[in-house]
Amino acid sequence: MIQKLQSFKARKSLGQNFLFDTNITRKTVDLFGPQADDIVIEIGPGFGALTEMLLPSGCKYTGIEIDERLIVELEKKFKKFKNFSIRHLDFRKLNIEEISKKKGSVRLIGNIPYHITSSIIFTAFEQHFLMKDMMLMMQKEVAERVVAEHGKKDYGILSVISKTYAHPKIVSTVPPSVFIPKPEVDSAIVHWDFSQKQERQPADPDFFRIFVRTIFNQRRKMLRNTLKKLGDVALFNEENEIDLQRRPEALSVIEIIDLSNKFMAFTPEEKSV
Ligand code: SAM
Repeated sequence: MIQKLQSFKARKSLGQNFLFDTNITRKTVDLFGPQADDIVIEIGPGFGALTEMLLPSGCKYTGIEIDERLIVELEKKFKKFKNFSIRHLDFRKLNIEEISKKKGSVRLIGNIPYHITSSIIFTAFEQHFLMKDMMLMMQKEVAERVVAEHGKKDYGILSVISKTYAHPKIVSTVPPSVFIPKPEVDSAIVHWDFSQKQERQPADPDFFRIFVRTIFNQRRKMLRNTLKKLGDVALFNEENEIDLQRRPEALSVIEIIDLSNKFMAFTPEEKSV
């Protein structure tokens, strides 16, 4: 396997750093704990380092891989498993409902391309209602942003979206030495449990996404100033006793959800801000 990885022309543009250490892949899959009746989607299986640990559980497995060269390898390696299927696709174009329509059913796993981590996480969260849980390996700094608490410098869009619909936790860290080629950064594994969401939810998820993006794009500015971009702050202020001198980074996730739900009524056209 190591020889195969060393002779493969890895594409940096696809974030290709392959795991070769079976201690790490086994530990990762053990943390995930696949069961026979699980519906598992793996993002970017590569040469199948995690796949080979997942399939023996009997889970209903679908791999989503963008590199055609690897599709050939994966089909060859896993064709004996009846629970294996692979699709040649950019994960960000996947409609998860094509794999399962059942709410809270899908388990997502992957050692993902680091340069598009945020975009992969946001794609998954757009379909959060289908998800049971998700475990992704990513750059450690990004993992720290996902789990950051309000008031901390890493707190931002990734933390708020993650904690609105799930409970994220760093479950392990991974050194560069277990990959070929070696990445220049440390890695960490984050697990999101979608059964643990905030007690109140965004009234309109599309508006909420725009709201969070807008306030955190200027995270040092007072809400009073950033909210101007979205609607009538003066009228909102008259009718609500909310301190708009605060900065977004000081607000907890539930405060942001509540604020967004209230502010929606003060936008020109609620959904199409
Ligand atoms: N899971 C394998 C492992 O751990 O050895 C490979 C991990 S490598 C960091 C990322 C994998 O994601 C590569 O196989 C790459 O081709 C694939 N990939 C990159 N962009 C993708 C995308 N947008 N959708 C699906 N797969 C992608």
